[in-house]
Amino acid sequence: MEELRYQVDLLSAMNKQIQAEGKMYQLICDTSSNAIIYVNLLKNRVKTLGSFNKFFGGVSLKCADDLPKLYSYVEEQSVLLFRELLFLENTKKTFMSSTFYMFERKKYMECRVDVIYDSRNIPTDKIIRFTDVTVNKSQNDELVYMAYYDILTNLYNRNYFVKLLSEYIRKAEDENGIVSVMFLDIDNFHTLNDGMGLEVGDEIVQQFGLKLKEFEQDNVIISHFNSDIYCVAIYEPTRDRNVDYFYRHLREELKEPIRLSNGSEVLISFSAGVAEYPEAASTTLELINCSEIVMFKAKRKGRGQIQYFDSLILEEFLTNAAIENKLKKAVFKDTFSVNYQPQFRVEDNSLRGVEALVRWKDDDGRWISPAVFIPISEKNGTILSIGSFVMEESIKQFSIWKTNYSREFVLSINISAIQFREDDFVDRLISTIRKYSVEPNEIELEITESILISDFEETVEKLTLLRAYGIRISLDDFGTGFSSLSYLKGLPVDTIKIDKSFVDTIDKDQNTKMIFDSIVYLSKKLGFETIAEGVETKSQEKLVKDIGCDCIQGYLLGKPVEAKGIDRILLESL
Ligand code: C2E
Ligand code: CA
Ligand code: CA
Repeated sequence: MEELRYQVDLLSAMNKQIQAEGKMYQLICDTSSNAIIYVNLLKNRVKTLGSFNKFFGGVSLKCADDLPKLYSYVEEQSVLLFRELLFLENTKKTFMSSTFYMFERKKYMECRVDVIYDSRNIPTDKIIRFTDVTVNKSQNDELVYMAYYDILTNLYNRNYFVKLLSEYIRKAEDENGIVSVMFLDIDNFHTLNDGMGLEVGDEIVQQFGLKLKEFEQDNVIISHFNSDIYCVAIYEPTRDRNVDYFYRHLREELKEPIRLSNGSEVLISFSAGVAEYPEAASTTLELINCSEIVMFKAKRKGRGQIQYFDSLILEEFLTNAAIENKLKKAVFKDTFSVNYQPQFRVEDNSLRGVEALVRWKDDDGRWISPAVFIPISEKNGTILSIGSFVMEESIKQFSIWKTNYSREFVLSINISAIQFREDDFVDRLISTIRKYSVEPNEIELEITESILISDFEETVEKLTLLRAYGIRISLDDFGTGFSSLSYLKGLPVDTIKIDKSFVDTIDKDQNTKMIFDSIVYLSKKLGFETIAEGVETKSQEKLVKDIGCDCIQGYLLGKPVEAKGIDRILLESL
């Protein structure tokens, strides 16, 4: 009896404990912000708990067959995945989760399903839980967006483009396809940006992005790298070259001006470089680099041009990059020297002057032509050190000749536009002239028309100042630029150097001869001295003389030589 009472007490105590625990579990479930569905798979019974009604108000689930009633809450394209999740036991998985958009409630919910199997691998229980992740999702979406897209244009950003392009390349590898990458850059964007303001600049970037977006389709990735730079990849499984089509149509689109929000219109053009996998490169970054390199080549051809990859362009680029590297290191070393080329007067064959021409022997002992390294040095700024060196060295040498031979002649120094634009250019020149006690009118600066293009007024002001001091100014390579003699009229210039390209064909082409003739005629009328450059043959010399050009410079009468070569000429003429 005692035993029985004890058993009853024990049972009721356990019952109470179970009831208390059951209540606790019920409370936890009821207050949960998640919607929970418990499915007893063996008995085919369903119990809904937590915030189920808040998520799916009105739906009543009694057995597992009722679960499809929930399908209507997610978007149509997600139903298949949702079904897989709700009946996860069919796939023998124990756990899975995914996020769905509930379009009616405009909320994102995460659905997580756990299935419990017994020792024979028969599913016994299933718990389906829904959590509202709308807040997380939108924050997350923003982050994802920023990671993949460019905010200004809504196009893919560079990082994501690289990732997608890698996938194209992998596909092309498998399917023997090709991938064309087109690098695009808006022409004169910086002038537009500076002239019209940053906001207009941004709008142009956006509008161009919109035009590009019209071409978006399967097998085409459009991206915006930064500023006015865009990159497009086209996957060509059948090896057609749709990139031509793309380029032509985009150009066509841009024949109409872009209308801006302030009511104005701008006409824009772009330069493009195209490189293809596998021809140009086999890796993503190399392919993008190649397309960029050839785009630079397109830019040099003028506005609105396209350039396709060509291994020679890459070679040239790599050589230039190597030269640029060497230049940076070399400027401070003793690898530069100056040669001098004589110029003679036609009337009495006397020495009119010498032109200082820089020479550079690189680390490997190779002479590199100034025609190659001067343009590079202008881009990376080393021209300033090179220019200072030539100025100092040649004026010093000139003062030695003057002391030794007391002859009257002129030293011509080539001046790059970059060097000329420096604020202290005039001061430094004058102090060097004083340092070596030479006369200002013995020094001539050879400038090209390009110097006048950037800032005409400031340049003319500087030239006038130099001339007022007595320094001579010579216009180099005349005939290759915009070359209208009429604009020369008011310019502070003493000498016109007629470009070698005219002399080259003067004895072969009647037109060239006529042009040469009129340049000399007009120059004389305007009071300029004329020098013919690059005279190599007797027949060229004769024609140049007959036309009445004042002076001659060229291999026929004297190649550029080291200073002692000029000593010889000065000695002979004593
Ligand atoms: P440039 O100022 O037009 O110099 C004349 C170039 O023509 C020189 O080439 C000269 O050697 C070459 N030349 C002269 N006569 C003949 C000829 O009869 N036949 C042929 N085939 N060529 C002839 P170089 O020394 O190679 O210089 C090339 C260019 O590099 C120069 O053209 C000039 O633009 C630039 N340069 C040279 N030295 C300097 C410098 O110290 N400073 C700057 N800024 N540029 C320089
Ligand atoms: Ca020159
Ligand atoms: Ca020249």
